[in-house]
Amino acid sequence: MARRGIKEYKASEALGLILADRDNMDLSCPCCGAKEIERIPKRKLRHTPGDIYRQVKLRCAECGRSAVYSPRAVTQPAEPQFS
Ligand SMILES: [Zn+2]
Repeated sequence: MARRGIKEYKASEALGLILADRDNMDLSCPCCGAKEIERIPKRKLRHTPGDIYRQVKLRCAECGRSAVYSPRAVTQPAEPQFS
């Protein structure tokens, strides 16, 4: 899976971004500082019960780094899973 331009965050960078997203804070890229973070699925005003089981993908529009997490995994003080 070596698609051109796909980069990964370091674990510490990804964690910061993930926690910011979980806490509904404004997102900015921990690597290049860009404010354009593409989020899939898009953030909604309210979580629906099913959302917590889905994966959330965060990708910087500027440098292309991405992080994926499962919201359910971040509700506990454990290592989130990175893919
Ligand atoms: Zn970036």
